[in-house]
Amino acid sequence: MTDRRAELAANLATVHGRIAAACADAGRAPDDVRLVVVTKFFPSSDVRLLAELGVTDVGENRHQEAEVKAAECADLSLTWHFIGALQSNKAAAVATYAQVVESVDRPKLVAPLDAGAHRRSHSVDVLLQVSLDPPGADHRAGAEPDRLADLAAAVDAAGMLRLRGLMAVAPLDADPAEAFGRLATIRDDFLVGHPDAAWLSAGMSADLEHAVKMGATHVRIGSAVLGSRPRVK
Ligand SMILES: *Cc1c(COP(=O)(O)O)cnc(C)c1O
Repeated sequence: MTDRRAELAANLATVHGRIAAACADAGRAPDDVRLVVVTKFFPSSDVRLLAELGVTDVGENRHQEAEVKAAECADLSLTWHFIGALQSNKAAAVATYAQVVESVDRPKLVAPLDAGAHRRSHSVDVLLQVSLDPPGADHRAGAEPDRLADLAAAVDAAGMLRLRGLMAVAPLDADPAEAFGRLATIRDDFLVGHPDAAWLSAGMSADLEHAVKMGATHVRIGSAVLGSRPRVK
């Protein structure tokens, strides 16, 4: 067996180097950008090693898997980010273990998230996921930009949810520079009405440099840290 810890440490060092270089290029401070390591498909033992190596934030995109891992790692003081498609009948449960829910894309999710947060007596940080797909595309997830104001108002009205900002995924076949450029414009408009909601979660293993250049405050990195995921489904 290869030394998994050493492998993860080396990959983390590479990713931190990429983030630092992208920040330097953009004239931003390196601690402007928080690394969220996406651990989906990888075991809790990897999450544990990552925590030992200084990772503070982890991301998961499927409720069942996330719930189990968060319970197995409850002794670690990690911040869990839920970044996947969210079903309204799972939203309350997600809010009981996730400190950050990044994929809020419709008002229907707000009441169950708020109820779950109440159950845990702890507020939950919320990002609104915005779609970067061209109009009419068979789009994967995210609210249309013109729906953000209503969605933000619904989150603001919920007692236990804190509106922190926006999240987006670059469309698969798009130029990330162009997609994140559009995202930067959407965010500028959004900040006029919500100046305190300044988080921007954008950028994955392949495109983090573009995202940092366009103002990302959080990057969600999976394969560049953990290796390629098993091809399931
Ligand atoms: C899986 C996933 C990531 C990480 O992707 P990598 O290309 O492995 O870095 C980031 N964001 C979301 C929403 C994901 O589902």
